[in-house]
Amino acid sequence: MNKFEYLEKYDYEQIMFVQEKESGLKAIINVHDTTLGPALGGTRMWDYESEEDALLDGLRLSRGMTYKNAAMGLNFGGGKTVIIGDARKDKNEEMFRVFGRYVESLGGRYITAEDVGINVADMLYVKEETDCVGGLPNLSGDPSPFTAYGTYCGMKAAANKAYGSDSLEGKKVTVQGVGHVGYYLVKHLSEEGAEVVVSDLYEDNLNKVVEDFGVEVVDPDDIYGVDCDIFAPTALGAIINDDTLKELKCDIIAGAANNQLKDPEKHGRELEDKGMIYAPDYVINGGGVINVAEEFAAEGYDADRSKRKVATIYDKIERVFEIAERDGIPTHKAADVMAEERLNKRAKLNSIFKPQE
Ligand code: NAD
Repeated sequence: MNKFEYLEKYDYEQIMFVQEKESGLKAIINVHDTTLGPALGGTRMWDYESEEDALLDGLRLSRGMTYKNAAMGLNFGGGKTVIIGDARKDKNEEMFRVFGRYVESLGGRYITAEDVGINVADMLYVKEETDCVGGLPNLSGDPSPFTAYGTYCGMKAAANKAYGSDSLEGKKVTVQGVGHVGYYLVKHLSEEGAEVVVSDLYEDNLNKVVEDFGVEVVDPDDIYGVDCDIFAPTALGAIINDDTLKELKCDIIAGAANNQLKDPEKHGRELEDKGMIYAPDYVINGGGVINVAEEFAAEGYDADRSKRKVATIYDKIERVFEIAERDGIPTHKAADVMAEERLNKRAKLNSIFKPQE
């Protein structure tokens, strides 16, 4: 990989390689863009097959955070850290404290939080060394209920576009994956009187939603073929692909999973051609990051205020649909346009001289 060529292509600001022998820390801190404010994005710990894989993953994820944070209307830029290692074997206190010191050394340019392989206990070690860390206990905590609530609000906006009413009462909704986010999504849907059909790989997760909400279960491979109004992918990425597109029988795709379109260009266009309404993943699933961002509000964290902000995902999904219509583009592209419009406006504002206080 020609690194500077790649960084230039997508306009990355800073990549920081961090290593510490005693603790075994090998981390790459990626700051993609700080036009809107400090780069906010979690830390992922993964046993990558190669350093190149780790670098590419972090680069891709940090750029994704720039777009997600912009689309959510947050005053945060995009960043992400990857730590190379096995999250079940290689962690220790010193690793996260060393990492925390390096985050601190960035002087507020980057704020971290949990991502795959990282838990609250790890972040509490980071917190010993820096205040540039979110997702802490007794503050915003587990983002999943907020992600689920935002997804539910975005789904209602999509229903409004498809049916002229945002009521989900009586609508048949399939939810693929009833883990942390899926459970709460099913809860909202059941409370509104939707007919919910779910799939998951784990018996215990299925039992929980069946016991609590009396939903119907189908085998994982059968979920795509269920004749329904709305399909909510809430498990895996790349789930909209050549195979599933042949099977899907729904009007709307609106779920929390990241990177749903296997090939965004091709599959986004095909959804459009089939007349299916797609609520873009990084807009509809932004409730979690809105909630983490609230930890940094000048007034301090407040769960009710956070929930009110998450509810605006309804308006954000409507805005995506407006842009798609205005520009004659598929909705996944319209999401990028919405994010870029905000970034460009702020870049213009930032270029105006501001006297020092
Ligand atoms: P999770 O691991 O708690 O739950 C995922 C569930 O999907 C698990 O129960 C798993 O068994 C199930 N699953 C996996 N493969 C499946 C398959 N083929 N068919 C059916 N079920 C399958 O994860 P989560 O935190 O609930 O996140 C779900 C999705 O939402 C992920 O794509 C995640 O990246 C995305 N997301 C989550 C958050 C959050 O706040 N947790 C925020 C933004 C996006």
